[in-house]
Amino acid sequence: MLTEPHYAKAETIEELAANFAEIENRIRAACCRAGRPEESVRLLPVTKTVDERRLRMAYGLGYRHFGENKVQEAWGKAGMMADLPIEWSVIGHLQTNKIKYVARFATEFQALDSLRVAEQLNNRLMQEGRELDVLVQVNTSGEESKYGLAPQEVVPFVRQLVPFNQLKIKGLMTLALLSSERSKVRDCFVLLRTLRDKLRRNLPAGMSMDELSMGMSGDFEIAIEEGATIVRVGQAIFGARALPDSHYWPEGERPD
Ligand SMILES: *Cc1c(COP(=O)(O)O)cnc(C)c1O
Repeated sequence: MLTEPHYAKAETIEELAANFAEIENRIRAACCRAGRPEESVRLLPVTKTVDERRLRMAYGLGYRHFGENKVQEAWGKAGMMADLPIEWSVIGHLQTNKIKYVARFATEFQALDSLRVAEQLNNRLMQEGRELDVLVQVNTSGEESKYGLAPQEVVPFVRQLVPFNQLKIKGLMTLALLSSERSKVRDCFVLLRTLRDKLRRNLPAGMSMDELSMGMSGDFEIAIEEGATIVRVGQAIFGARALPDSHYWPEGERPD
């Protein structure tokens, strides 16, 4: 991701509507530049730290699917807003003790990077009688602090997911390098697309590999140019967060 400007907090529905419109316009323009149809990219508004009042505003503007990094926060919001037909994507690293919650309420999990989590999640989903759309997270930046599989681990990993019938494998997800050099950010997205294309050529039955979830507030246009089908945008819509990103991608903490 590119280093970002300071985003003003959207407090009113008018401010929120203006920010959504601007992001949708920029997505459309990036699709146009890349010669892609605009329906080929889904905007996933990322609502971590966004309170219920503003979430309900986003719902009022027509958004029905939100991304959350932390399971506890997502689970809390799903409960508070159970009166509305909202779908929740969990986009952050999943600790095994949180699997049972994800199996109950999430419709998509974008950060699968371990077999242990895959197996336990599949078991829980069976108990709940549910299925879950899943993206495999890849560490395309080589940064220690990022979760996700090393690129060379992805092909054998995906093959091992075949027995987990409740997991509907849909594609790959990544966070790009934190850098102000656009070419280095772009390299991360190119790597993810290349991996996806490689997987597609030899895909186990029942899986699809169409989705590429990449691009955030600071870099979603580059991601679209490189084939993103899902962009995860938080701050450019809702405003800057109080907590630094290291709170969400803890440094030094490795996947359990
Ligand atoms: C927070 C977050 C985003 C969105 O980042 P913004 O800078 O708010 O656009 C995207 N992906 C993940 C995994 C996140 O945790």
